Amino acid sequence: MARMQQGVGELGGHYDLLVVGGGINGCGIARDAAGRGWSVLLCEQHDLAAHTSSASTKLIHGGLRYLEQLHFALVRKSLKERETLLASAPHIMWPMRFVMPYAAHLRPAWVIRAGLYLYDHLAARKLLPASAGIDLRTHIAGASLAARYRRGFVYSDGWVDDARLVVLTALDAAERGATILTRTRCERLERSPTGWTASLVEADGRRRQISARAVVNATGAWVAQFLHAATPAHSKRNVRLVKGSHIAVRRLYEHRFAYLFQNPDRRVVFALPYERDFTLIGTTDVDYEGDPAAVSAEPAEIDYLCAAANQYFVRQITPRDVIWRYSGVRPLLDDESRDPTAVTRDYALDVDGSDVPILSVFGGKITTYRRLGQEAVNRLAASLQRDSAPWTASALLPGGDLPAGGFAVFSSAMGRRYPWLGATLRQRYARAYGTRIDRLLQGARGPSDLGVEVLPGLYARELEYLWRHEWARTAEDVLWRRSKLGLHLAPESAATLDAWMQRHLGTPAERSIALSAATSPVSATSG
Ligand SMILES: Cc1cc2nc3c(=O)[nH]c(=O)nc-3n(C[C@H](O)[C@H](O)[C@H](O)COP(=O)(O)OP(=O)(O)OC[C@H]3O[C@@H](n4cnc5c(N)ncnc54)[C@H](O)[C@@H]3O)c2cc1C
Repeated sequence: MARMQQGVGELGGHYDLLVVGGGINGCGIARDAAGRGWSVLLCEQHDLAAHTSSASTKLIHGGLRYLEQLHFALVRKSLKERETLLASAPHIMWPMRFVMPYAAHLRPAWVIRAGLYLYDHLAARKLLPASAGIDLRTHIAGASLAARYRRGFVYSDGWVDDARLVVLTALDAAERGATILTRTRCERLERSPTGWTASLVEADGRRRQISARAVVNATGAWVAQFLHAATPAHSKRNVRLVKGSHIAVRRLYEHRFAYLFQNPDRRVVFALPYERDFTLIGTTDVDYEGDPAAVSAEPAEIDYLCAAANQYFVRQITPRDVIWRYSGVRPLLDDESRDPTAVTRDYALDVDGSDVPILSVFGGKITTYRRLGQEAVNRLAASLQRDSAPWTASALLPGGDLPAGGFAVFSSAMGRRYPWLGATLRQRYARAYGTRIDRLLQGARGPSDLGVEVLPGLYARELEYLWRHEWARTAEDVLWRRSKLGLHLAPESAATLDAWMQRHLGTPAERSIALSAATSPVSATSG
């Protein structure tokens, strides 16, 4: 982890690759390049996963509904990635079964059967069971649905903790030698015949210059704006910004199935079991033109999601039941579709300049991030004449080396190893950190070794770990991205935690950056 937390002012210097943007795509590219032995610097203007990459529906999926739009190549590509990803970090991603109640007036059964057959067969499946028809009058998932839904279908996809996926990808990049700078904006890029010079600005206004042979523009919703305003490069491509919002309500059912609901507007809405006590419902598709960092859910979107859920569930919800909402902006590759729901979810990599290249990422899903990273580094390797082989398809992410038998076996082993740790806390640590739980708890022999309990269930030891190894600098980083403790704690907890982190963590210089960061506009996905 040598290059993770260098002090202010130590940097500068020359890199093979500068990656701008610490969402899933930037981190995936940085990890891939670092693993090939390139020297890499990644800068993220806010926190890792501060924007779209923590605001997704959290599915590792092919996208059943994209079949209807005839996007077979995209669905196949994503389906092929599902099992590769699920194997790479089984503590933060797992298979999920989805129940689709049959609504005859929306789609005929044969269309759904044909779609599911394709979904099952477009790519090889070893881990995920095939789809099937079910009788909702007897299936456990039928009990929480209105009695008019008597038949349905069940199929497989994957679930992921999106924000933790980003952090673990960045951590892997750092452990392979990449330098990761959060709260650091790339303000300007200048091209010379031998490489790029980048001006980077930290949250407290401090500036530094670095140089790189190649640059990746993985700024998500900012991709076109960044290219235009901060670089001399051009692209013919554009992004279409489409907002999507989710709501969380107290759980509407007890079992572990998720639901896919067909809506009369031909869209689909998901309802997922979330954080033990909640049901997560989303999403919407609304064209968006504002600042991507200031996105928030409109009342009409909340009404829409409540109405979609109320079409199906016995328990009816209103906006007053909404405990949490978040919104994100999809940076979709603009294919000039009229309907935002129909815009392709595929990605394009655009390279400007051959000897001194900048590669811009347009579009892309969490599901395809590993493959996108590999393709991006392959493209740059050709430009930079670096001979390097792809390696990520069979590599694990930090903490993902669970024993044979998977998470259940690992979880019981942790129960034996740390019998003094309460079951809820142990389960949370095991899920968040996987086998890295041993680093978190290194040397701890009992509850007193966890340090002070800063908030219920959140101890000093974990906060130190998150600060030291996972770039967490503010309460929001901890409560809403490294964990989802924010959902379980009182709203005033954030102020208590910020004050504690300011007093106890990091060097004075790091604290001053964190203090500036705490007041900068990162909170795009909550509220
Ligand atoms: C509502 C919704 C639901 C979704 N559901 C799914 C799903 O279930 N499954 C799935 O696979 N995909 C899903 N997606 C798509 C997926 O979330 C996105 O495609 C993906 O997160 C985009 O990642 P990114 O790295 O390109 O962008 P981002 O995560 O936005 O990262 C870009 C980063 O660049 C940084 N940045 C910008 N400018 C600068 C600068 N000048 N200097 C430094 N940093 C800068 C930003 O701060 C930002 O953090 C969903 C998207 C949305 C919005």
